[in-house]
Amino acid sequence: MGNTRIDDLVAPPVRRLQPYIPGKPIAELEREYGVQNIIKLASNENPLGPGTRARAAMSAAIAETGLYPDGSGFELKRELSRRHGIAAEWITLGNGSNDILVLLAEAFLTGDTEAIYSQYCFAVYPIAVQAVGAIAKVAAARPAHDSMPLGHDLGAMAALVTPRTRLVFIANPNNPTGTWLDSPALLKFLRGLPDSAIAVVDEAYFEYSRDVECADASEWLRDLPNLVVVRTFSKAHGLAGLRVGYALSQPQIAETLNRLRQPFNVNSVALAAATAALNDPDHVDKTVALNRAGSKTLRSGLVQLGLKVLPSAANFVLVDLGHAAASVYEGMLKRGVIIRPVGNYGLPNHLRITTGTTEQNQRTLDALTAVLGR
Ligand code: PMP
Repeated sequence: MGNTRIDDLVAPPVRRLQPYIPGKPIAELEREYGVQNIIKLASNENPLGPGTRARAAMSAAIAETGLYPDGSGFELKRELSRRHGIAAEWITLGNGSNDILVLLAEAFLTGDTEAIYSQYCFAVYPIAVQAVGAIAKVAAARPAHDSMPLGHDLGAMAALVTPRTRLVFIANPNNPTGTWLDSPALLKFLRGLPDSAIAVVDEAYFEYSRDVECADASEWLRDLPNLVVVRTFSKAHGLAGLRVGYALSQPQIAETLNRLRQPFNVNSVALAAATAALNDPDHVDKTVALNRAGSKTLRSGLVQLGLKVLPSAANFVLVDLGHAAASVYEGMLKRGVIIRPVGNYGLPNHLRITTGTTEQNQRTLDALTAVLGR
């Protein structure tokens, strides 16, 4: 003891792991810059927060927090069963959908197997794959001048499939691009996968995609035994801080994930709030309507500033500044507006902006106008 180099002790795949970089928290910006009246449009959160039913359920659940939660998540699974028309055995609950993504990597990947994802994908896929020492196969994205710029190229993904492929990650709509895949294209791709590969369709932003032809992979669960559909309460349901998400799959996959998960991976306040949120469709409707209007305002304001904005079926837009975005991001921070730099996604000229309230969107556009000197 005393001379140990911890690095030498760390499991080899973890040595090279880069931590996930989240959106800057409001309190951190306050501390670092002394800025007040900060808005955060950096993590695709719901500007309305939780609905009234979820808030009431949370308050009521506090009294029970001295006890462990129901590890089986019976009530929440019952509601999800009703909503998706499938048995509870087809559902896995997670501490956020992030938890599910990690469980999938742990369950299906080893050092000699492969996972496929797209070049510009949710940053947790590469981390989860690398953490278990599996081989990452990264499919080139669609070109910048495509109808779905920088989105998933299913042909390129299919070309990477080998007998060693165990997981294929697809986010639909995709983060950080906002692009989406329609049913015919996605279904054809999924049907073409070998029996030795599990397809993970991550629908974290699904609720926001009503206005476009975005696939709903949960409709195909019966036909496709190797399909896992991942959803979350963090976005349209406004419960990001509680950490609750879920997977839908045939029971064999759910049973496998159940063996790996922590016995109480979803806390009791989250279980209660998520169950209540499913019974509050009005809140989701209100959220989607606010997002629809806000996206329109943001998009037209950004275009007026001469910026290129990618199409989006989610609650954020990806903006191409045409030059390095770091100083613009800094300028926005100084004005109390936190947006998301995406250099770590390989997009140093882009910024990702979450749709906020009417006031937040206007403040973002005003700040950006000032920072860009337009
Ligand atoms: N999938 C995608 C595509 C995401 O963008 C996010 C959140 N940024 C998640 C999953 C994870 O969300 P959570 O763990 O809060 O459910």
